[in-house]
Amino acid sequence: MSCVFCKILSGEALASIIYRDEQVTAFRDIHPIARTHILIIPNRHIASVNELEPGDEALVGHMLMVAKALAAQEGVAENGYRLMVNTGVHGGQTVAHLHLHLIAGKLARFLLG
Ligand code: 5GP
Ligand code: ZN
Repeated sequence: MSCVFCKILSGEALASIIYRDEQVTAFRDIHPIARTHILIIPNRHIASVNELEPGDEALVGHMLMVAKALAAQEGVAENGYRLMVNTGVHGGQTVAHLHLHLIAGKLARFLLG
């Protein structure tokens, strides 16, 4: 398995994991682009939004609900945050394991590539 996020899930690679349940895991981005930068990923390897299948609706909804909860936990809910899912080369996706970015902090609103 060459997927770096699957290695984080298995414990083979280290990450600062801040949340985990039976469906998703959240950890801090290794190169944060704002004060809060968390990645929320499915525990099952799904390469991107393009590989989502019928039946994944609850999983995707759960990723969003976990983002909401973590935003509150980080204390950024009120001031706001950016949720981002990059897909494919032109979408700027660099890790082929579906992930939801939770980005917050004073500068988050200026970050849009
Ligand atoms: P993408 O560009 O695919 O939407 O975002 C991938 C993100 O994963 C980037 O923000 C990058 O910094 C982060 N990332 C890549 N490799 C690792 C890693 O090994 N550990 C952690 N914690 N984050 C990573
Ligand atoms: Zn993976």
